[in-house]
Amino acid sequence: MTDAIVAEDVRRTYGDTAALSGVSLTVAAGEVFALVGPNGAGKTTLVRALTGTTDYEGGVALFGEDPRTFDRSRLGLLPQDFTPHERLTARELIAYYAGLYDDAHTPGRILTDVGLTDSAETAYEDLSGGQQRRVCVGTTLVNDPDLLILDEPTTGIDPAGRRRLWELLEELAAAGTTVVLTTHYMAEAQRLADRVGLLAEGELVAVDSPAALIDAHGGETRLTIETTPAPGSLDLDLGYRTATTDDELLVSDVPPTEIGTIVEELSEEGIEAESLSWMEPTLEDVYLELTGQALGRGGEVLAEDDEQTTGSTRTSAVEVKQ
Ligand code: ADP
Repeated sequence: MTDAIVAEDVRRTYGDTAALSGVSLTVAAGEVFALVGPNGAGKTTLVRALTGTTDYEGGVALFGEDPRTFDRSRLGLLPQDFTPHERLTARELIAYYAGLYDDAHTPGRILTDVGLTDSAETAYEDLSGGQQRRVCVGTTLVNDPDLLILDEPTTGIDPAGRRRLWELLEELAAAGTTVVLTTHYMAEAQRLADRVGLLAEGELVAVDSPAALIDAHGGETRLTIETTPAPGSLDLDLGYRTATTDDELLVSDVPPTEIGTIVEELSEEGIEAESLSWMEPTLEDVYLELTGQALGRGGEVLAEDDEQTTGSTRTSAVEVKQ
């Protein structure tokens, strides 16, 4: 089958700024592909190049065709700065966009799909941020696109609204729609995407499935045990690399089957485990490793101004014992 997207050595400069420095990428038909990366990495520029809405050098093909002449009825595009007419209701907006196509879905069907039947007659300006974003996504679905490209579809949406949109995108993907989305939320990319592309300074620095990226760059599992008495500078060889904070013992790379043994060993030494958590690395760890940039507490890429106040909590002082 023809790939949905083939990009070869795509370049775009704005004056002296290289927004894209030679991006090559293939997205298979039916795939869900997430683009992540720091602010200014080039995600929006890449989306615009892929959809033929900005000039670029290099090659792009959508289902084998030039994006600038690609049949628009096969494409759903949500640009990041899309702002529809605020006085129109959700239904009127969907109906307006449906009117642009010969064979569009009915507004009622789209409103159901995006979970907005109860707010159909509410003016866009009176909807919540999450509902507004769902209307925007709805406008991209009226033509039942083969390829859906969404630039930050869930930015600014509350967690419940985000989950609703995830379910919708999963349903579309299951029905065969190719979905490309940019996101600031690593949990979103990890949940939705078959493959994730990490863009940094105009270059794709890693492309793979979330699991493969986590395997390659996510680091070790972490067992965190709150102990009584406090672990202090624990002088105990558990057979794993350990570190201590004031009240926690951190053990790296422990298989879950060995957790009980560790708790027993501690107990034999008079150290009781009050609580414990075992965490596998996630896409957040991959992001941190490959970009060196902190994420917010919700696992989202922060705006530069936010980083100093709400950056990663993983930098607390630990005493490491090899
Ligand atoms: P992202 O979407 O990852 O935040 P962008 O694609 O918006 O990144 O921007 C990539 C780089 O290109 C940034 O340095 C940005 O300032 C620059 N850039 C993007 N659009 C323009 C434009 N219209 N004029 C000048 N510079 C731009």
